[in-house]
Amino acid sequence: MLSVHELHVSYGGIKALRGVSMEVNQGEIVTIIGANGAGKSTMLNAITGFLKPAKGEVIFNGHKLGRNPAAIVKLGICHVPEGRLVFANLSVQDNLMLGAYLRKDRKKMAEDLEKVFVLFPRLKERIKQQAGTLSGGEQQMLAMGRALMTDGELVLMDEPSLGLAPLLVKTVFQIIKEIRDLGKTILLVEQNAQKALEVADRAYVLEQGRVVKEGAACDIQSDPAIRAAYLGSKSVAGGA
Ligand code: ATP
Repeated sequence: MLSVHELHVSYGGIKALRGVSMEVNQGEIVTIIGANGAGKSTMLNAITGFLKPAKGEVIFNGHKLGRNPAAIVKLGICHVPEGRLVFANLSVQDNLMLGAYLRKDRKKMAEDLEKVFVLFPRLKERIKQQAGTLSGGEQQMLAMGRALMTDGELVLMDEPSLGLAPLLVKTVFQIIKEIRDLGKTILLVEQNAQKALEVADRAYVLEQGRVVKEGAACDIQSDPAIRAAYLGSKSVAGGA
């Protein structure tokens, strides 16, 4: 579904991505793990057209992607950005409908809204509430719901568990699996490597803008170097 070839992205003199290649197949959950500043968010922002690569290309379902975020949403890629970025002064309902801004298929939009409410009943309860007054966990649900309202096939998620209490982190990862069960494909950026590797099929490890390891999530999880660097000292099999 998605092929990224030799992507290079810089911010002025800072080389954030140095020739990154990766693949995402339909129906997979693929995770990109890595430390702060490894280039994970840059990768997602380059895919969605917010950043211009100096070199390399991104192909989605046979289309070469350029620097036009709206066109990229229309092709079927949606983005749940780091930090949620909900519209604080708008209601939950308006935030969700903004996700569907480019759509014209009203009947399917209504069906998708119902699916979002099944996934996130709390959003239905708070439909008229201003998004800025929601808890952090609820805002994360709203950001995910808004992305689902685009009806994209590929969902890019940037640090969905960041700043959430442990119980909510568990819920967020459960929901990621449920979103895949709805037929979506997911590219997940996470600093919580343990949880990300538990839900993912495959993983890429980014270090200083380069892929240093890739493979089945279970193999990455049991790799001693990865365990030492990203998963702490506890047993992976038993859950860290
Ligand atoms: P984090 O989890 O901390 O967001 P990350 O893996 O997502 O880390 P990026 O945010 O992609 O990493 O950053 C990669 C590199 O690019 C870092 O060195 C970072 O300082 C730099 N960088 C990111 N955004 C900018 C920017 N807007 N201007 C300048 N440098 C930036």
